[in-house]
Amino acid sequence: MIPNTMTALAKTKPAEGLWQINAPVPEIGPEDVLISINMTGICGTDIHIWNWDDWAAATVPVPMITGHEFAGEIVDMGRNVTGLTRGQRCSGEGHLIGTESRQSRAGKFHLDPGTRGIGVNEQGAFAQYLRLPAFNVVPLPDDIPDEIGAILDPLGNAVHTALSFDLLSEDVLITGAGPIGIMAAAVARHAGARNVVLTDINADRLTLAEHVVPSVRTVNVAEEDLNDVAHQLGLTEGFDVGLEMSGSQAALDQMVEALVMGGKIALLGIPPGQSPVNWSSIVFKAITIKGVYGREMFETWYKMIAMLQNGLDVSRVITHRYDVADFAEGFAQMKSGRSGKVVLNWR
Ligand code: ZN
Repeated sequence: MIPNTMTALAKTKPAEGLWQINAPVPEIGPEDVLISINMTGICGTDIHIWNWDDWAAATVPVPMITGHEFAGEIVDMGRNVTGLTRGQRCSGEGHLIGTESRQSRAGKFHLDPGTRGIGVNEQGAFAQYLRLPAFNVVPLPDDIPDEIGAILDPLGNAVHTALSFDLLSEDVLITGAGPIGIMAAAVARHAGARNVVLTDINADRLTLAEHVVPSVRTVNVAEEDLNDVAHQLGLTEGFDVGLEMSGSQAALDQMVEALVMGGKIALLGIPPGQSPVNWSSIVFKAITIKGVYGREMFETWYKMIAMLQNGLDVSRVITHRYDVADFAEGFAQMKSGRSGKVVLNWR
């Protein structure tokens, strides 16, 4: 039985915080499914929305049920939905796309310029029920638990970034040891990189990284010289591939400096405001740079589920679990900058 109302976490007024509310269960259209949410992940985006910073105030309409990282179960389907079943466990792509743009019509759905995000522009997943277009549903195999299903969105960011370039036998530098940087390190190892070096200036995060991916070489660049580490590893000409996950200007400069001639960089980190770039060193080093947004629909999802079924283990990146009633503690953990992924249990 689907009730008429549900518990949700929402931004109900333009101020700091999120509030637990009673909201109507969403009505679904003919192409939609209704998902009963089991588990959600708290994202950095949700922290921006909690804090109600300039980006959030300019982007998020109020009231808004936040959240976009989820795992649940299909409980209702619109009349035109095929290929899915009630009771099916699933996660899903939180970027809702149109099908009329040049890139969508070319099959590159993640590049649709009209993308709208659940929990940002459309009612989100921090709720007992979520409406989602059936197109966006990603069924979960039995061997992937809800907890992992709830972090497939950020794992997808890591996979999309890490698989931007061929990593087999390459030496990879990752800057930024937040959960996505740590998961990217795990993916790079899984994809056959020779050395994976992960930098940050937050000792707690580097400790967590070593716990999640024991074969990664962490470097606290506030204390240790990256060049020394490269020499210790025998990298006389530099790293082959850089994955920038921090949005830090200093990290990007350091990455360009540390790359081999003709090296490649995938950028996922978002620098605050405008930041100066040393273009001449990028040109003279003949470096290729790729910006990364979201996840490829649905190749990234396919690959990450296949990797999870083939030994990729990111489970230890989840450091805190709370019942939804204790959501404020979960957000406090995230804001401390010391946690990995924090998940909320809705069951
Ligand atoms: Zn997210």
